[in-house]
Amino acid sequence: MAAARVGLDIGGTKTAAALVAVDGQVLGRRLAPTPAGSGPAAVLDTAARLARELLDPGGAVAVGVGTAGTLDPATGTVRYATDSLPGWAGTAVGDELAERLARPVRVTNDVNAAALGESWVGAARDRRDLLLVAAGTGLGGALLQHGRISTGARGGAGEVGHLPAPGAERLRCGCGRYGHLEGIASGTGLSAAYALVTGVRIAGRAVAERAAAGEPSARAVVDRAATALGRVLAGLVALLDPQAVVLAGGAGDALFPGARAAFADELPAAWADVPLLPAALGADAVVVGAARLAAHGPPAGSDTAVATDERTRA
Ligand SMILES: [Zn+2]
Repeated sequence: MAAARVGLDIGGTKTAAALVAVDGQVLGRRLAPTPAGSGPAAVLDTAARLARELLDPGGAVAVGVGTAGTLDPATGTVRYATDSLPGWAGTAVGDELAERLARPVRVTNDVNAAALGESWVGAARDRRDLLLVAAGTGLGGALLQHGRISTGARGGAGEVGHLPAPGAERLRCGCGRYGHLEGIASGTGLSAAYALVTGVRIAGRAVAERAAAGEPSARAVVDRAATALGRVLAGLVALLDPQAVVLAGGAGDALFPGARAAFADELPAAWADVPLLPAALGADAVVVGAARLAAHGPPAGSDTAVATDERTRA
């Protein structure tokens, strides 16, 4: 049997590792809080420890990483990261982990990894042209073209959060500007929009819960966000011509029904059969996709591309 691989998911609050079989099945998991406040070296040490626990008993050889931030596609170094991982920008994640683990490590952005996972064994299994949008605290996106992560010139391709969105004019995006999709269709956006309407500041998750319970203000906020998201995604379908669009993330669950309706209404006729699908891998998407990258991608420092047609030969 070909060796399993280890996939790592390094986020601002938690670091997850999984041992993943050649067919995408998760064979084992490790989870630890990310020591973000202790700096990048401590974060990398934690990730390496979790990987090591899975590498040795499993005999796995390859390691892939999905991490928060924008990764330089040429070097595997973090170009940009938010305050959730202080000091993360400038960290050579691939090289540092390769040194700690004495084996090749491939690295990409966490949303890119999730797209690889979903196209491998998740919601978009066997689809090679895919747009994945992750609505969590913020709003991230990833684009697979012909089975490869489209990184763009600086590793930022697919970031849909900064597109102008109807209804977001009074809402502040994570980038600091107003009127962007992330400002309305994200956990932060739901929280802010609900506060504008009611004067009460609660978490986006709580807004979604109140909407599900039928509270009119919360329902209106979620409906507006979902409609904005669905309309923008439909426009992107005409630009990018994917086989499917996948909506992931905690806020994505709440937004999905409304987004799917708006998406279907807005799709130009030529793309009427392109589905908007709910993500299927949940919290495993990043580790599974990172393992996929480990198996088939070139090393950090060259490119983050991966060919998903190799799954049939794995
Ligand atoms: Zn923005």
